[in-house]
Amino acid sequence: MRYSGFKVLKEALTGHKGWKPAWRDPAPKPHYDILVIGGGGHGLATAYYLAKVFGKANVAVLEKGWIGGGNVGRNTTIIRSNYLLDGNEPFYEFSMKLWEGLEQDFNFNAMVSQRGVLNLCHTDAQRDAFRRRGNAMRLNGVDAELLDTEGVRRMAPFLNFENARFPIKGGLLQPRGGTVRHDAVAWGYARGADMRGVDIIQNCEVTGFRIENGICKGVETTRGFIGAGKVGVAVAGSSGRVMAKAGMRLPIESHVLQAFVSEGLKPLLPGVITYGAGHFYVSQSDKGGLVFGGDIDGYNSYAQRGNLPVVEDVCEGGMSLMPMIGRAKLLRMWGGIMDMSMDGSPIIDRTDTERLYFNGGWCYGGFKATPASGWAFAHLLATGNPHETATAYRFDRFRKGLMIDEKGMGAQPNLH
Ligand SMILES: Cc1cc2nc3c(=O)[nH]c(=O)nc-3n(C[C@H](O)[C@H](O)[C@H](O)COP(=O)(O)OP(=O)(O)OC[C@H]3O[C@@H](n4cnc5c(N)ncnc54)[C@H](O)[C@@H]3O)c2cc1C
Repeated sequence: MRYSGFKVLKEALTGHKGWKPAWRDPAPKPHYDILVIGGGGHGLATAYYLAKVFGKANVAVLEKGWIGGGNVGRNTTIIRSNYLLDGNEPFYEFSMKLWEGLEQDFNFNAMVSQRGVLNLCHTDAQRDAFRRRGNAMRLNGVDAELLDTEGVRRMAPFLNFENARFPIKGGLLQPRGGTVRHDAVAWGYARGADMRGVDIIQNCEVTGFRIENGICKGVETTRGFIGAGKVGVAVAGSSGRVMAKAGMRLPIESHVLQAFVSEGLKPLLPGVITYGAGHFYVSQSDKGGLVFGGDIDGYNSYAQRGNLPVVEDVCEGGMSLMPMIGRAKLLRMWGGIMDMSMDGSPIIDRTDTERLYFNGGWCYGGFKATPASGWAFAHLLATGNPHETATAYRFDRFRKGLMIDEKGMGAQPNLH
């Protein structure tokens, strides 16, 4: 069933009796050509592009809970491609281009909203770094504008420009950046994959891998053994735990990241505003809530809830940037688990076990990568070769010292 304005009108006039479930609820088959573990954004996008671009229909996505219950439905929805390094910038711009055509592509309203992403700077040195990053973006054909203090003031006059510790000296604006309704991304990809024959199997936890003579033959699950020609793992915050079942120790630590939403307010923010020095980022949802977040919790954890010192820290960051935010009531907050890689960049690669592939290490920036990650992982699973924009995302970069250290701050997950 295709969605359209005409269909919405027809259903509105006929009691909404014609809507069907957007994806099936199939029982697992004994064997698939390709199994994708993890029904988050990356796993579902992988299955979608496997079917759509690479013509692989005998595919299943295995999800231990419900699709959209992980980080894909827990993030602060920011999309951008304002990266500096060669290993990253073409990949994230590929993702941005896919976001721009996504809703037409999978015929689902994901509310892609390119309202702009503004990174504020507070020192002359930071402005120089932003100029360099903006120039690198432009060399890669990406939009970037360097604003001075007055330019920022015109966009967001309510900011605290004279904060003694972090005075606002300007900002780097990516006008094509913005936000996307996060859970709709999971639903849109799920529906598109299902329409092309992919089985999406929820409540099916992978509990082990069947590996014989170094070859992965399938997975043990809470619904029995499922055989596979190839297995792709895309379980985000559970990367370390799941790959341990295949005997792999990853260069990854898991941390909680929290998000916050205020009560609905009148339109206030021009787009996304980020304040790196205080580690605070904020946008406004279409319902009016201020959606904001800050730094990861400082200890390793698999609990999907955060601690109060970070709540205080994020709220202090918000207040010092936008004093008026203190008058808004906080409606909800929650946490998700981040698989923090040691250089802050992801991994999309084969493993030492034949026919077992891995996608992870997205840290707290993987939502914007969802379309490109899905496409690149599908490319790797279907062809055996990395996608041209993801050639740097190899495991062996940690052994060879070829880190993609985007922030240039050293290999400490708690500094990402
Ligand atoms: C608070 C917060 C804010 C964020 N803000 C942003 C942002 O603004 N912009 C941005 O780009 N990124 C952001 N991120 C990061 C981004 O959300 C993640 O990097 C990205 O969503 C991870 O990929 P995913 O969607 O596939 O993960 P998930 O949705 O977590 O998918 C993984 C799935 O694997 C399943 N799974 C785990 N173990 C098993 C198993 N054994 N068997 C079967 N299934 C299993 C899980 O249930 C889960 O559904 C944020 C994250 C959080 C938590």
